[in-house]
Amino acid sequence: MRKLASTLFLCWLGVVPVVWAQAGVAEGAGDELLFRTSIEELSGDLFGGRKPLTPYQDLTVGYIADKFKELGLQPVGGSYLQEVPMLSVKTNVKGGVVTARGKKGAARFGVMDDVVLWTLRAEEKVKVQKAELVFAGFGINAPEYGWNDYEGIDVKGKIVVVLVNDPGFYDDGLFRGNNYMTYYGRWTYKYEEASRQGAAGVLIIHDTAAAAYNWSVVQNGRSSDVLSLASPTGNSEWVALQGWITGEAAHRLFDVAGRSLDEALAAARQRGFKGFALGVTATIETNNDLRLGSSYNVAGVWPGTDLKDEYIVYSAHWDHLGTGTPIDGDSIYNGADDNASGVAALFVIADKFRRLAEPPRRSILFLSVTGEESGLLGSAYYVEHPLIPLSKTVVNLNIDACGDKARTSEVRASGGGLSKDIDRYIVEAAAAQGKPVRFSTTNPGGGFFRSDHFSFAKAGVPVVLAGGSTPPPSGATGENRPLWGGRNTYHQPSDEYHAWWNVAGSLEDVYLFYGIGLRLANDGYFPKWDDATYKAAREAQE
Ligand SMILES: [Zn+2]
Repeated sequence: MRKLASTLFLCWLGVVPVVWAQAGVAEGAGDELLFRTSIEELSGDLFGGRKPLTPYQDLTVGYIADKFKELGLQPVGGSYLQEVPMLSVKTNVKGGVVTARGKKGAARFGVMDDVVLWTLRAEEKVKVQKAELVFAGFGINAPEYGWNDYEGIDVKGKIVVVLVNDPGFYDDGLFRGNNYMTYYGRWTYKYEEASRQGAAGVLIIHDTAAAAYNWSVVQNGRSSDVLSLASPTGNSEWVALQGWITGEAAHRLFDVAGRSLDEALAAARQRGFKGFALGVTATIETNNDLRLGSSYNVAGVWPGTDLKDEYIVYSAHWDHLGTGTPIDGDSIYNGADDNASGVAALFVIADKFRRLAEPPRRSILFLSVTGEESGLLGSAYYVEHPLIPLSKTVVNLNIDACGDKARTSEVRASGGGLSKDIDRYIVEAAAAQGKPVRFSTTNPGGGFFRSDHFSFAKAGVPVVLAGGSTPPPSGATGENRPLWGGRNTYHQPSDEYHAWWNVAGSLEDVYLFYGIGLRLANDGYFPKWDDATYKAAREAQE
């Protein structure tokens, strides 16, 4: 009770001025209460970090489906749940050590400390015997940039060692320019391409700056079982082993090869680079605990009127990392900001549509997807098996991590220029909040590929990526905030809800998204892409 009282008190203090301008005190305070309590509940220890295929999944999707129902949303095809077939694999590397042998001797790499390895295959044992290691630069085959790291090398049955990011990270002129990381720089691409090339395994050399996250993020993502979409072929289309190696360990690997990693890196950044065998072999055996199961996307519709066959899609992933390596004695990765806050935002937006005096012309689909943390799995499955035809899907507004944000004086929008139509809608909605928009056309660290909107974009549906710029959260000071001060709770057990969170800016972002969706729901317009790749995907839709 005490907690509830103080939460209420905070909302009144925090949000009254916005609320007057928006919709009246009572409703705005209701938004904040709904937002805070939903985050607090979904990120509570009771939900165990919301990992798919665990008992916590059922609790989580049940909670969201119940809330959708309570908010008056309708199920699609009789159910709020869309089944997503998933495979969970816990990869146990035999001996917990990988040994590489070259002409300068042998090097041992501890699993988790030096290398992280997993398989996506539905096989109880994976054995890669005396496989040769081949350095393939960035592991990129990009005809449109005249770049092929696989040219002239045979990687069939071999383990490919590659760099993260793309050559433009080191020389902006080489790829798209403007500090724009292409999809070729993303780790998922490295595994996809090596699989196409017939490699047995892939090790990506970790570098914090180039990857845009540190080694602990790599470890946390793979410290227990790894999830993937279950393909009809038992995922045999994937390389047998996927993994990462630390920069330090990669130096030792190149040492036993009698090569210099630094020289190899420098060469790989030049156009015309040729990959080469390291003259090193490794045998890796794994015993895998497999579990085939069902996960779920949760979907609910607020029906439109005369344009009800056309849909605005709001999405937010419900999953997080579950339990893992304890940090400061805490093993539950609660995922309050990432992404209980986004799910809570869906509830707030659904509630606002429900309260409209006039229902929207187009229908609104609220979609809480699974498996984002494992590689955008739920949204990838959704666009392959859409509940609503993609050609009738007007726009995707995806919300990922919008908790604990102080009010801001401007809106920042990434993906600027991809769709000038979308840019205009963002400007208009921001202007209603009295804010200018600062568009970013760069994509450092590949941020554009790191949440579920990317699945929609790849499938041709225009997406909105915007929000108040993020100053250090300011909801609490002094001893209330022991973790702040360069605090990094991203993918840590410390991503927990606190009553001292400042959500004034968070709610402004929620209203911004609501405003854009409402406008598009009523004006009947289909925003167009300007980016050639996504535009082609839109035109290919049925
Ligand atoms: Zn997220």
